[in-house]
Amino acid sequence: MEHTRTETWSIEDAAALYRIEEWGNGYFHINADGEVEVRLKDRSPLSSISLLKIAKGLQERGMKLPVLLRFSNILDDRIQHINESFAQAIKDVGYQGCYRGVYPIKVNQQQQVVEEITKYGKQYHHGLETGSKAELIAAQAYIDDPEACIICNGYKDEEYIDLALRGISLGINTVLVIEMPGETEIILERARVLKIKPNIGIRMKPSTVASGHWTDSGGDRSVFGLNTTQVITVVDTLKREGMLDCLKMLHYHLGSQIPNIHDIRIGATEATRFYAGLIHEGAPMGLLDIGGGLAIDYDGSRSNSSNSRNYTTKEYCDDIVEEIMSICKETKIPHPTIISESGRALVSYYSVLLFNILDTNIFWDENQKEEEIPEELLPALDNLLYVREMLNEKNTQECLNDLNYYREEIRNKFLYGTVNMRERAVAEHLYWSIIAAIYKMEAKGAYLSPQIKELEHQLSDIFYGNFSLFQSLPDVWAIDQLFPIMPIHLLDKKPDRKAILSDITCDSEGKIDQFIGRSDHNTTLPLHTPPEDDDYILGVFLVGAYQETLGDLHNLLGDTNVVSITYDEEGKFLLHNELEGDTVADVLSYVEYDPKQLEAKIRTKAERAVQDGLITTQQRRKIISAYTAGLRGYTYYETDQED
Ligand SMILES: *Cc1c(COP(=O)(O)O)cnc(C)c1O
Repeated sequence: MEHTRTETWSIEDAAALYRIEEWGNGYFHINADGEVEVRLKDRSPLSSISLLKIAKGLQERGMKLPVLLRFSNILDDRIQHINESFAQAIKDVGYQGCYRGVYPIKVNQQQQVVEEITKYGKQYHHGLETGSKAELIAAQAYIDDPEACIICNGYKDEEYIDLALRGISLGINTVLVIEMPGETEIILERARVLKIKPNIGIRMKPSTVASGHWTDSGGDRSVFGLNTTQVITVVDTLKREGMLDCLKMLHYHLGSQIPNIHDIRIGATEATRFYAGLIHEGAPMGLLDIGGGLAIDYDGSRSNSSNSRNYTTKEYCDDIVEEIMSICKETKIPHPTIISESGRALVSYYSVLLFNILDTNIFWDENQKEEEIPEELLPALDNLLYVREMLNEKNTQECLNDLNYYREEIRNKFLYGTVNMRERAVAEHLYWSIIAAIYKMEAKGAYLSPQIKELEHQLSDIFYGNFSLFQSLPDVWAIDQLFPIMPIHLLDKKPDRKAILSDITCDSEGKIDQFIGRSDHNTTLPLHTPPEDDDYILGVFLVGAYQETLGDLHNLLGDTNVVSITYDEEGKFLLHNELEGDTVADVLSYVEYDPKQLEAKIRTKAERAVQDGLITTQQRRKIISAYTAGLRGYTYYETDQED
């Protein structure tokens, strides 16, 4: 279908439809050509580049979709943003402590991310948070700044503790956080053996339970942290052992993506009371670690819904600093260094997934011509035809009820053999044509009732995308998280279709049917009829946090291709760190096939076929080379075969 510029459609309409200005946070915009552009440096238009141009450039270089794009400049901008927001809040109220961020490696463990954060973050002494031995081992290699901290959370065995203690003797500013009562003894024991003085933190269990998806870290039943009685036990143990002077930090974590600022305030108040309590017990302290939780506005609604947040970074910093300061004043204690463990807020904007649409299933096309119903089929359709005749704007609900009733009747008659297959087919078609007519009448109004929205959903197309939900967007599947999804081009044309998305796993769960939109959550996404002679490319945005490592190998669709784009000092865009995604041989070996053995089996099979006279030796060669090329190939749908 030809895309014609429509008089009444502008890129501003597209921006409003997909809410890009609300969730894009200055990083993503629509340019005058109707393409999505990313602004890499200081959110300045000078540093903007079109995602379509990137995709085309990659395709010219032989890299195929789907591809994950990473923008390290955005990471820099985020680090700057959070550090400067805290610095400003501290300055505004005359707070006497400082701020130190630590990045929790689990949020995106990619080497590039950790390298960039420690490199760019050095000017702010941004450190790292680790939750396991592997993360600590990575962190120790990258931290290169005695003022930046490594905060060690998670369950700790002797080896984890020894690694951390030896880090201290290397001059790495490391804090060992006691998460479970039993850890105290092991830490003290290992410190004695290695003769290294530990910095100890205590993770408290906040009684505040924040709202949101990922907030099980608060409350009595949270699996992490010490309750008040256990905190006292740790203090008494440290006193008894003469080690209370090692207690430097209080830590808490309310959970991730906390939508409501109210919960954040209460959490800070409760924690500062504990902090003051520990000082009054005689611990030196000095560090108050407020954990993560700073949320991202995925749906652009600026609300306290679980995919959004009702506050800005500035408000977050202001409220935390003020809350801590006021309790310090009341309890007459010095202002602590504030540590936060923001992960999501740092890395979400960093990655964008691009994929192409492979096919569409147009469920109902309102422009199709109605065919004449053959005379002999009419009697079976009597009731449905009557509904069609009676339908007007005032009785849509009644007609909808009748329609469903008569369709059921026809299906029953089919079961008893009194309606034949042809009659049923025409009846089904007629049913949907009347549904479409009802939807058209109702959709004119500004308000769509849930029932009409349901009709919209039922009439929508299915667009098949070249990606795996389970590999690239696991939280969409696991917890119905919403990510902004939109076409990255053709935005100067009005979208003419409403669709849901299906991935290429053959799993009925591999679909996306919840989208952000102008009103509340929508069950369809407005899209264009894909161009006939070109790719139609969609972007999924804000996927830098948590998605990569939670992804799995459903249907053996592997890692996607990855590429980083950087805007350098001279104003050039550099493609680097190209990582080929998994090959078929890679994913097969993850599940313990040996690609060499597979190939050998096919060779034997083909040889037998030659012996039996089923194929020629020439054909055998072709079959084997196709098989080995398949092993080397990308696990996703490849449109043009390489030779
Ligand atoms: C996961 C986690 C974080 C990161 O939380 P975000 O909401 O992504 O900032 C911070 N601290 C701890 C202890 C965590 O487990």
